[in-house]
Amino acid sequence: MKIKISNLSPGIHELSYDGEVKEIGLGEPFKGFYLLNIKIDKASHQVVLYADIELTAHFCCDRCAAEFDSNIKTGFEMVYIFESPPDYYDDTTVQYIPLETDKIDISKEIYDYTYLSIPMRILCKEDCKGLCLKCGTDLNENSCSCENEEVDPRWLPLMKLKKDSDN
Ligand SMILES: [Zn+2]
Ligand SMILES: [Zn+2]
Repeated sequence: MKIKISNLSPGIHELSYDGEVKEIGLGEPFKGFYLLNIKIDKASHQVVLYADIELTAHFCCDRCAAEFDSNIKTGFEMVYIFESPPDYYDDTTVQYIPLETDKIDISKEIYDYTYLSIPMRILCKEDCKGLCLKCGTDLNENSCSCENEEVDPRWLPLMKLKKDSDN
């Protein structure tokens, strides 16, 4: 995703883009369409870019193995300075670009920030009750007469198989 900046006058510019996630280099778990809103604040010595991305991800619940779609919103801010880069810098939100730069490429930032926005723990809902370890019953839908124990996540793939073959 490249944003043309050479033709922008100094000041604030708002741009929006949409399309299929694969067009911006994203694969699973993302699917369908994205919406990208960009605000650019251009000055003589720098460009500040704010990006907001909205997209859909397809997840599998860590507790009950249910598959579901989730709406993901994320964003980032980047500063592009019209200067040659200093010998050493480690700020990943700053880039140094030549004054005559025509387009800035934000593909890497889009990729990094969208994948970073995937939760560490994926749950179909906050209070998902998971599957019964013994009988495989989805405790969100039914109860069972087994004694309740914490589900060992290593059993989930097996339980899902059992659940699918029961249906
Ligand atoms: Zn769940
Ligand atoms: Zn049970």
